[in-house]
Amino acid sequence: MVNLKNRKLGEARSVIREIFEYGNARKKEIGEENVFDFSLGNPGVPAPPEVNKEIVRLVRETPSLKLHGYTSAAGAPDVRRAVAAHFQAAFGVPVSADGVYMTCGAAASLTVTLHAVCEEGDEVAVLAPYFPEYRVFIESAGARVKEVPTTQAFRPDPEALERAIGRRTKAVILNSPNNPAGTVYNDKELAAIAALLQKKSAEKGEPVLLIADEPYRELTYGVPVPCPMAFYPDTVVCNSFSKSLSLAGERIGYIAVSPWCAQGAEIVSAVCGAGRALGYVCAPALFQRVAAKCLGMSADVGEYRKNRDLLLGILTRCGFSCIPPEGAFYLFMKSPEADAAAFCERAKRHELLFVPSDAFGVKGYVRISYCVERSVIERSIPAFEALAREYR
Ligand code: PLP
Repeated sequence: MVNLKNRKLGEARSVIREIFEYGNARKKEIGEENVFDFSLGNPGVPAPPEVNKEIVRLVRETPSLKLHGYTSAAGAPDVRRAVAAHFQAAFGVPVSADGVYMTCGAAASLTVTLHAVCEEGDEVAVLAPYFPEYRVFIESAGARVKEVPTTQAFRPDPEALERAIGRRTKAVILNSPNNPAGTVYNDKELAAIAALLQKKSAEKGEPVLLIADEPYRELTYGVPVPCPMAFYPDTVVCNSFSKSLSLAGERIGYIAVSPWCAQGAEIVSAVCGAGRALGYVCAPALFQRVAAKCLGMSADVGEYRKNRDLLLGILTRCGFSCIPPEGAFYLFMKSPEADAAAFCERAKRHELLFVPSDAFGVKGYVRISYCVERSVIERSIPAFEALAREYR
């Protein structure tokens, strides 16, 4: 009656959602203020004021039928032009409006891109730790996940990447700023990855595509986020406004194909085809227009920085160890016992909810989302102290 693969996917919630739902149930039992839920990456800082101003302006000034009707399948032409112009203005990359496809968030950007380029049996390399849903997106496109280890500080390791890329490698996904490690890849790292991909593409006789997943691009703490298109020609950027503009529930994002892609026209056609096949045509029309006016803006990163610093201070004082994140809103903390899931179970007894790192492709760490209200972090201090005491 049903597709078995999809039934299994539907029945097994993601680890992150599983913990989030546990937290919701627990809040009902013992009161919201007594549960410290650091599981989900749901932005906790309001959208910048420009977002609501633009929504109000659009609703007031645009005839309703025009505002809420279908746009072109790939997105409204003026919105696609605005995204392309943003690439030129921000990074000096002459992306063409034809190379922009508006989508429903980064999840759709990635799914559409992977379906556009992958054939059954291809491999897609991902740097571990990585966003767990990559596995679902990659496998649903008929490809296999090739996990690539990173350095101890979770920075790209070109030698490991070199070993991982083979004849079947169709693409490499890079996620910077990184969920969950908070790493931002610098110029030198991107140049090394680009040189390696050039070499591998030449050996293969076909470009290995670089898919840059960038929903956290604007959320950084004083470090620049170089544009991968400036380093490697065969690049597709997958982006969304979920995190940067705190619009996660509005499902809006885009795919941008580099003007220097060797097979750019084919990729654009395949993106349009995949968008059509998957039912992702015509991303939410109102939010396409809002996003076009708010390109490059972000929610108040200073608030995330305060959360990061407060939490880092608490964890350090308690004797836990983690690398200060350069971007995004997650702390990747070393588990004081080898089994991160066991540590998370122990943390649960103090009403602290983290995600064990196993689902992110590495062992022995936990992800702590700090995109929460400051008061949650402040109230959680005794719980962190009690948890730490168990390991002394
Ligand atoms: N990529 C990464 C690295 C993410 O962390 C997320 C969401 O948490 C996504 C993609 C999906 O983002 P969206 O909500 O825009 O679909």
